[in-house]
Amino acid sequence: MRKAVQKLIFIIAEHHENKAKSVVFELAACAYKIKRICPAEIKVIILGSETEKLSFEITHATGLDAVAIEINELALYNAEIYKTVINNLAAELSPSFIIIGHTPRGLDFASGLAVAMKAACITGVEGLSEAGGKICFKRQMFYGKINAHITADSEPVIITVQPGTFEPYKPDNASPGRVETRRVECTPKFTRAKGSRRCKFQDSSISEAKVIVSAGNGIGAKENLDLIYRLADIFPGSAVGGSRILIDRGWLEYRQQIGLTGAQVAPELYIACGISGASQHLAGMRGSGFIVSINKDPGAAIFNESDVCVVEDIKKFIPAFLEEYGKREI
Ligand SMILES: Cc1cc2nc3c(=O)[nH]c(=O)nc-3n(C[C@H](O)[C@H](O)[C@H](O)COP(=O)(O)OP(=O)(O)OC[C@H]3O[C@@H](n4cnc5c(N)ncnc54)[C@H](O)[C@@H]3O)c2cc1C
Repeated sequence: MRKAVQKLIFIIAEHHENKAKSVVFELAACAYKIKRICPAEIKVIILGSETEKLSFEITHATGLDAVAIEINELALYNAEIYKTVINNLAAELSPSFIIIGHTPRGLDFASGLAVAMKAACITGVEGLSEAGGKICFKRQMFYGKINAHITADSEPVIITVQPGTFEPYKPDNASPGRVETRRVECTPKFTRAKGSRRCKFQDSSISEAKVIVSAGNGIGAKENLDLIYRLADIFPGSAVGGSRILIDRGWLEYRQQIGLTGAQVAPELYIACGISGASQHLAGMRGSGFIVSINKDPGAAIFNESDVCVVEDIKKFIPAFLEEYGKREI
């Protein structure tokens, strides 16, 4: 039994094809960070139609306790069911914090859940600290130009956490947490998932590349992408990626999109060319080994994440770099 004074933190587990998404372990790290400021019990909440294997994976990897809720109607993800079931569970157990991934799925239900629970909702969290006995959450605004620090005046607080913010929590030799399994029936009133289909283009070259040269809006014109391909050419095992803007314009293919709604990559070297560093892009490349950014704006947010910052016009810098590279003695 939970002590009356002890707070409770929910982590909502995201999963696909009966495997936990890596963000679950990052949310666990976030929960521990909250717990250090504000002592609390942590529970992973797993919703699905077959939760046994998932619960085993999560509780063994993290040592955290879980509540697994088996819902036949959840063979395919449905936001309405998530909102209803989590709302009911929260009414019963009164969590102080509900932590959700800032992923397309998390964004699909987090704000609606907050409305249903009449709870505070802070999205896109990229850090937290203590401020006057409260937890202060950090998030980007204006494409990373400004960091906002936000506290909630009431509990519960729902937060969505940017993937890539926290080191995944997977302690060695954790003794497995306990699993409480419940069965719930929940028929959605308004929406029904009819099926899911894989995208046609599933190219692994971007996720396996050792070096990725990525183009952003700063490239200016489609013809200038030639510079990016020429720069990538000098690195064996490289691939060209890009920010979403270029994919939306049809200048690059979707399989090349890096970020929250694209590929999550971790090459040894990532070269960002004319990319501002919006949180949705950072979510896909933050795990890179070494980051070089070229941007003409010295205040670009991407520089906060970079090992080498080149403040220059890419249309000047890349040709000059390629020329010097061509002169080297082999
Ligand atoms: C739900 C959601 C999901 C999203 N998912 C993704 C995602 O998966 N991936 C993604 O990338 N974005 C995603 N976005 C979009 C994201 O918010 C940004 O709009 C996008 O990343 C910005 O792309 P950018 O940095 O190329 O362009 P901009 O923000 O326009 O930045 C261009 C940069 O280039 C610099 N620049 C301009 N000219 C030059 C030059 N000549 N030389 C050097 N530098 C120059 C500028 O200083 C600026 O910093 C998503 C947005 C939403 C709302």
